[in-house]
This record gives sequence, structure tokens and C-alpha cells, in this order.
Amino acid sequence: MAAVWQDVVRDAAAVREAAAVAVDAALLAGVLMRTGEQPHTSDVVSYAPFTLLPSAVPRALFEQAYAVQQDFNLLVDAVSQNKEFLEQTLASTIKVDDFTARLFRIYMQVLEEGLAQTVFLGINRSDYMFDCGGTAALRQIEINTIAASFGGLTSRTADVHRLVLNVLGKTEEASHLLPNNPAKGLALGIAKAWELYGSQRAVVMFLVEDVQRNIFDQRCVENELWNRNIHVVRKRFRDVFEQGSLDASRRLFVDGQEVAVVYYREGYVPQVYDQQNWEARLLLERSRAVKCPDIATQLAGTKKVQQELSRPGTLEKLLPGHPEAIARIRATFAGLYSLDEGEEGDRIAATAIADPDRFVLKPQREGGGNNLYGEELREVLEKIKDSPERTSYILMDKIKPQPALNYLLRAHSPLQVSKCISELGIFGVYVRQGQELVLNQAAGHLLRTKAIEHADGGVAAGVAVLDTPYLV
Ligand code: ADP
Ligand code: MG
Repeated sequence: MAAVWQDVVRDAAAVREAAAVAVDAALLAGVLMRTGEQPHTSDVVSYAPFTLLPSAVPRALFEQAYAVQQDFNLLVDAVSQNKEFLEQTLASTIKVDDFTARLFRIYMQVLEEGLAQTVFLGINRSDYMFDCGGTAALRQIEINTIAASFGGLTSRTADVHRLVLNVLGKTEEASHLLPNNPAKGLALGIAKAWELYGSQRAVVMFLVEDVQRNIFDQRCVENELWNRNIHVVRKRFRDVFEQGSLDASRRLFVDGQEVAVVYYREGYVPQVYDQQNWEARLLLERSRAVKCPDIATQLAGTKKVQQELSRPGTLEKLLPGHPEAIARIRATFAGLYSLDEGEEGDRIAATAIADPDRFVLKPQREGGGNNLYGEELREVLEKIKDSPERTSYILMDKIKPQPALNYLLRAHSPLQVSKCISELGIFGVYVRQGQELVLNQAAGHLLRTKAIEHADGGVAAGVAVLDTPYLV
């Protein structure tokens, strides 16, 4: 599957010309990011990094990833409603991981008070790599249940790659690139939740970071909502702390406006939470507003939950009566291992110390750059193997995709060929009202590609770049 553009990759003059066209096409199409130097304004912007060429993706695995997305939506939704499962699964983790513990405390507090929220909106992205031991296999890396990004910008990358292929004389291939519009799909889910909340006056609130380099990605979704005459506001946790309140029936007001939907594009790393922001988070969770995600769904996306889902029998308990969905879900799992105290954890820790290149060591963190590999994995595991701290991590089999040559286009970087691997994400959207699932869809895809020398990290972390799948 690796070598689809061999002739092009070797033609330096054609590559140079195509790269210049590609960069301007990306700017014209709105594949944009604010710059590191001026992250607070849109006065000066640049293109979001992307590949010169679309990357080959096996058609069967691409279709498999789409076919399992509604099942994953069902599963995440089921986990988020299963207090007993979340409690049991996270019991060991919250003893040692303060961030998960604080989220969990809010979760319990909200349940004790009784949920005011009756409409639930999930937007997730399930990420995969193509393992190439023998025949290529689809292997889930993780599922992101909060702030899954790049659905906006990637709605515009296929047009850029289509043009590049045309410039390179690959007209036939260009015509095969698939349309892709996650921004529309995500907006559809948000609009549905807004409608079911049932107040024309109420707004959709994007909860955003202090530094908003990736604002254009969010604007793609935002503008889809404005086009449906849904009013959008952008607020930070600090704004919610200062301007937020609940009325007697726990309707949420921020700066005088009633909020129907809170769409989190922030809130998944511990660093953003000082005492005031924790208070703001609690206020949001207690409210009647539709949180995307609610705190239970955020917890459903932890690495610890992912690892427990792979235990024999767990999916059957969570999704009774759905044997086909369970089979499709399980077929995407890589080996996942608990490091909880006890014999099972001791055994796998010893195995990983002896053969670290087979595994990835993952803490309960999101956003890239937190996982450990190779020698570093060995060192850390040696140090913590007899301490409770071990429990804050999980182990996973390392997926080894087939590399392919491509050019990663990045502002201020030289044009050079890189050996690359790709990660495919499928966006899922669902809406539940009480016990009734009123919407359950796959909403589009995201392909991210990085040079093989980087073990970890996404687009926002400056490692991976946007790509378009070329099905083979
Ligand atoms: P995060 O929540 O930080 O995004 P991920 O589990 O997605 O955590 O890991 C971050 C990156 O590390 C992934 O995008 C992928 O490039 C790499 N990675 C994660 N798990 C594996 C694995 N099992 N095998 C190979 N690479 C992995
Ligand atoms: Mg990830």
C-alpha cells in the first residue's frame, strides 16, 4: 500500500512546483491556523501543516472504520450511563491520578444532586492505525470523547489534494478522492441538541482555550450553525466563572444569555484547571444545558476505560443484545493491559521491561506527547513497577504501520521528503433524549500523517499534519 506516487516523489522540479500551488490552494480553501508568534489575532495567519500528496489507505480498512462508528457511538453512550462500570473501572486510577479523581468527584456530585440535563450530545473521533504484521489490520489507537478537533479544517483538505494531483497530471486519481465534510456533520448534531433543548433564544456556547491558534477549525463548525440561524458565543472557563449562573430550574446563563449547548474545545488537560475553573466546570455540569460531552462521557474516553473494555466479557455486559456490534468493535482492538497492583500487572510490567519496543505506556492524559516508548518506557516502568503510581498508566501493544514517502508542508520548513505513517480518525455524532437515541451517525474522517521519527503527537502538537486518504 506504500508506494502509490513513486514517480512523483522522485521528480524534484514537479514536487517544488506542486508544493507552491498546494500552499496557495490551502490558503485559498481556508486550511488555516494562527501563527505561534501571533496566536491571539487573525491579523496574520498561515496554513495548517499538510501533506503534499494524499496517502494510500486500504479501502477495506477505511470501510471497516466507517462501519464500526455507530457501534462506538452506542458503546460510549452506554459507558457514560453506567455508574457501576465507571466506578469499578476507575477505582484504582483515581487513587493515584489526581486529574481523573477530580473529574470523577464532579461526576459523583452531579449524580447525587440528580441530573438536570435530559438531552445528550456526543461528538467523538475514533482513531486508528493500520498494523502491517502480515495482512494489514485496522487497530484502534484511542477514542476521543472531548474536544476532538480538525473536523473543520479537514473538510477543506480534499479539495487541495485534488488540485495538487491535477497539477501533477494525475487527473484520474484526483477524481477518486472522496468528499468529506465533518464540519457539517458535527454542526448537525449540535443543531439537533439545540433544537431538543427547546428554547429559540438560547445560544450554543463554544468553550475555548485562552490561546486559540486553531480557531479556524472551530469557525468551520460555528459558521454552519450561524447559517442555520443558531446563535453561537465563544467563552473561556474564566468567563463562565465570572459571568455564569444557574436559575431555580438549573438553566445556565452566561453573560445574561441562556445556554442550550456547551461544546467543549477545552477542559481535557489538568493545566487549565485552577480552583476557579474547577468551580466553573462544576457549574456547567450541574446545569440543564446539553454538555458535549457531559462529564460521564469525558470519563468514558479515558485510557483506563479503553483498556477495561478490551477485557473478555466486558462489551457483552455493556451492550447486551448487540452481538454484531460487539464483534465489529472487538475486531479493532489492539492488545491492552492493566497495570493495576497484583499478579496480572506484575507479569505484563515484567514483559514490557524485557521487551519495551513491543509496547506503548500511556498515562490518563489527552492531547499528545504524554506516552512513553522504548528505552524511556523501560526506565519509567522500572522505577514505578513496585509503587501504586503504576496504576495511573496502561500498557498497549505498539502498532507498526507500513511507512510511505511524502512531503510534509509546514510554514518556514524546508521542502524535503519524509518517511511517514498515517492515523485515520472517524468522527461520530449522536444525540439522546432521555432513553431514546434520536441521532447516531458517522460524520466524516480525518487522516493525519507524521514522520516516523516521532513516536507521539498530533497536529496541534506540531508533529502530525493534515492529509487526505487515497483508497487503494
Ligand atoms: P492522546 O490522547 O495524547 O492523543 P493517543 O493514545 O492518541 O493519546 O496517542 C498519541 C499518539 O501516539 C497517537 O496519535 C499515535 O501517533 C501514537 N500512539 C498511541 N498509541 C499507539 C500505539 N499503540 N502504537 C503506535 N503508536 C501509538
Ligand atoms: Mg490521540
